[in-house]
Amino acid sequence: MNQENYILELAEKIIPASWKICQNLEDMDFNNPLILNINLIINKKDNKYLGYTSGAVESGHCPLIIYQNKDFSIEATLLHELSHIAVKRWVAWKKQQLYEDMHGPTFQRAYKTMLSRAWKYINEGVINEIEIEIEYYKYTKGVSHLKGDNCSKTAS
Ligand SMILES: [Zn+2]
Repeated sequence: MNQENYILELAEKIIPASWKICQNLEDMDFNNPLILNINLIINKKDNKYLGYTSGAVESGHCPLIIYQNKDFSIEATLLHELSHIAVKRWVAWKKQQLYEDMHGPTFQRAYKTMLSRAWKYINEGVINEIEIEIEYYKYTKGVSHLKGDNCSKTAS
């Protein structure tokens, strides 16, 4: 199995039932307003931006681009970005603003949840990588008023 298929399958195994991984427009479900279509694109080009989410999660469509980078595993990048989507979805559903860092406590909880969903599909090295990353955020991104829509794991 190539890496692209591997990461698509991993994404499908760990997302909530109301999310749908799509590679193109034809895969998307526009009939059910409760479904969140995630347009997952895997870019093999070495780029400093590892993962990127944008778009209106509340509108039921969210593009997600995953970049390969030698410093982080592609699995951790996927889980990290899906956790951002989970936070955005939760915030939209609650109709609330989140006054904390984009990697603050709410994100850390979402990331832990995503890790527990992925636990049996990823290797110990990736689990350790993610646990160290969450621990890092715990000490550096407690609570703040920074807000941002996009994310780069290397940028902070
Ligand atoms: Zn992030």
